Amino acid sequence: GIDVLTFGESMVAFRSDGPLVQGGLQTTRVAGAESNVAIGLARLGHSVAWAGRVGADPFGRLVLRELRAEGVDTTYAVVDVERPTGLMFVEQRTADLTLVEYRRTGSAGSALDPADVGAAVARTRPRLLHLTGITPALSASALECVTSVAESASAAGVLVSLDVNHRNRLWTREQAKEALTPIARRAAYVIASDDELDLVADGTEEEAVASLLAHGVVQVAVKRGPRGASVHTVAGRVDVDAVPVTAVDPIGAGDAFTAGFLSGVLDGLDPGECLRRGAEAGAFAVSAKGDWEGAPTRADLALLHGHRPGATV
Ligand code: ATP
Repeated sequence: GIDVLTFGESMVAFRSDGPLVQGGLQTTRVAGAESNVAIGLARLGHSVAWAGRVGADPFGRLVLRELRAEGVDTTYAVVDVERPTGLMFVEQRTADLTLVEYRRTGSAGSALDPADVGAAVARTRPRLLHLTGITPALSASALECVTSVAESASAAGVLVSLDVNHRNRLWTREQAKEALTPIARRAAYVIASDDELDLVADGTEEEAVASLLAHGVVQVAVKRGPRGASVHTVAGRVDVDAVPVTAVDPIGAGDAFTAGFLSGVLDGLDPGECLRRGAEAGAFAVSAKGDWEGAPTRADLALLHGHRPGATV
């Protein structure tokens, strides 16, 4: 089997450097939390497959081409001839204000079919199945897909990870909580921002974590942006500071963190070391432009550790 399987919706993101109403130049990049994590893991040397639907259009071909170029297996992706690839427009309205406009309703990516994902799990036999809280928000079939695969995979001994990844443009906090709580309880690894933990368990951070651990979650990672991150296990809590870098683009830090953290898990590292790899990957992501372009390789991580020739990381 492979190391990691993940699935979800990847879109094409058009980014303009000024107000959309004035037209102007746009860059064309691939966006999607699960594919960002897949690329992050592939760069760190893990075998990873991405499943999902794209349209039979140039945007879908761009998504698959970019993933393949990054070493992600797209064998189980489906080209949906009836629906278009989702699009997003990211507008730099002012230096501090970024607006996002989606064209993803009725997209190929939102028409995820439990049979697509079931086949991908059966054929790839992954050690780890990575889920996000975005996919279940896309459609009723996508919610059914994530819920059923979390259940069947965890019952079959596949490690499940969930990044809560709340998207308030897709559903309310109440809807998210109802859908995500049972999925989180099936997971071995739950990753959340500090303001997302209450979407998978009640109470303060310590109470929410205690409840998740009592349901069998092995590690709960909490992201705190430039303030670093924490990991909770039955043995207690470990904190890590953010790596001081010049942040040029905060988008993608969370996905890079998740890839780094899960890479540590796959390598059998201690929770504190998984956390550190996550924070280091997050720092690389924020100090480069793009959602996933800055995600580090192992050689990149070695640069943070003194750049000794032949050093092992
Ligand atoms: P996004 O949704 O924008 O991708 P997120 O909210 O999911 O991000 P963050 O908490 O912002 O995730 O970032 C994840 C990790 O990346 C942090 O825990 C931290 O270790 C690292 N990180 C984030 N911002 C910075 C920064 N400005 N400088 C250094 N490291 C950072």
